[in-house]
Amino acid sequence: MADKRDYYEVLGVSKDADDAALKKAYRQLAKKYHPDVNPGDKEAEAKFKEATEAYAILSDPEKRKLYDQYGHAAFDPASGGAGGGAGFDGFDFSGFSGFGGSSGMGDIFGDIFGDLFGGGGARASRNPSAPSRGANLRARVHISFMEAITGCKKELDITLKEECKTCKGSGVKPGSSKETCSKCGGSGQISYTQKTMLGIMRNVQACPDCGGTGEIIKEKCTSCRGTGYTSSKQRISVDIPAGIDDGQSIRIRGKGEPGRNGGERGDLLVEVMVSAHNVFERDGMNIYSLHNITFPQAVLGGEVRIPTVHGDVLYNVKPGTQTNTRIRLKGKGVPSIQNPNTRGDHYVTLIVEVPTRLSNDAKEALKEYDYLAGNSLNSPEDPGEKKGKKKKSLKERMKESLDL
Ligand SMILES: [Zn+2]
Ligand SMILES: [Zn+2]
Repeated sequence: MADKRDYYEVLGVSKDADDAALKKAYRQLAKKYHPDVNPGDKEAEAKFKEATEAYAILSDPEKRKLYDQYGHAAFDPASGGAGGGAGFDGFDFSGFSGFGGSSGMGDIFGDIFGDLFGGGGARASRNPSAPSRGANLRARVHISFMEAITGCKKELDITLKEECKTCKGSGVKPGSSKETCSKCGGSGQISYTQKTMLGIMRNVQACPDCGGTGEIIKEKCTSCRGTGYTSSKQRISVDIPAGIDDGQSIRIRGKGEPGRNGGERGDLLVEVMVSAHNVFERDGMNIYSLHNITFPQAVLGGEVRIPTVHGDVLYNVKPGTQTNTRIRLKGKGVPSIQNPNTRGDHYVTLIVEVPTRLSNDAKEALKEYDYLAGNSLNSPEDPGEKKGKKKKSLKERMKESLDL
């Protein structure tokens, strides 16, 4: 243990770091080097173990005091230090991997890893008779692009669980009673030890026989078949606010699973799926679309009618507008969910259209325009020139235009 790094150094904190700073430093290291994130990486594994050990010592006020006084010797059984025997390998790692711990180290790590890796915290240790909130339920509703802009109401059929009236949620047939689970002795938990790379770990799990309740129902309630719940179909109306975006959810309070032992109901989370539009595209609160203008409109300017989600808008195209010019229609975008009076913008890309079908007269006019603009080597037929008269050859016309 002579070459052990200083625990403060390992965590990268100062000697007077407080609990929050220790926790923060350890969280960052754990996130980086956790074996789940670095499968098969021995170096990361060693770093993770080192950081875990440092945190385990420094987060415990008593052990930290000993460490400050005696250094690593305090926890080295061979050195006979003050804390001899309390070496790292002797720590109780319950809950470390299964997040099921109920005390000590389990809580320290449950706290940290619970939200770090989405674990369930010390779930199995919960007192089975304490009130607990019901789980949230999820549902999905599909709406159109325009419904998302204006807001709408949608009906939704859900299956709502209710506490069984016959057994009042106990699942036990009236007149009979529950028995203590023999597998877990009524604790609702079973523990087992597991050899891992971090040493021996004690894991705690909810008892599989009684599901963590500590009791076994011998005679089940016939109304609910022992589940304690009955289900009923319900049609609910969901108010979807203007401005909702694809993938956002609406929380409907109290329409989730019923709570246990008098706990409140969970919520229903309705995910809203918004379909695409064939003209408008949306990015957050802004809308994007293309709008064609004619060549004369682009050259001369003029008023054009542009569709938006809030109706048509008359827009004055500036003379000399180039194709792919983007204009902004302020406040013609998506309303904010929080405040319907605040709206995003609508960006329109003006595309100068090239006609593919023209009447002969229009073609002649275009040729004349081209000639007058000085762009063409081909002059149009001279005004007053009689039809049927032999056209000038290309050579003649080229000569003419070069003489100009
Ligand atoms: Zn029942
Ligand atoms: Zn049990």
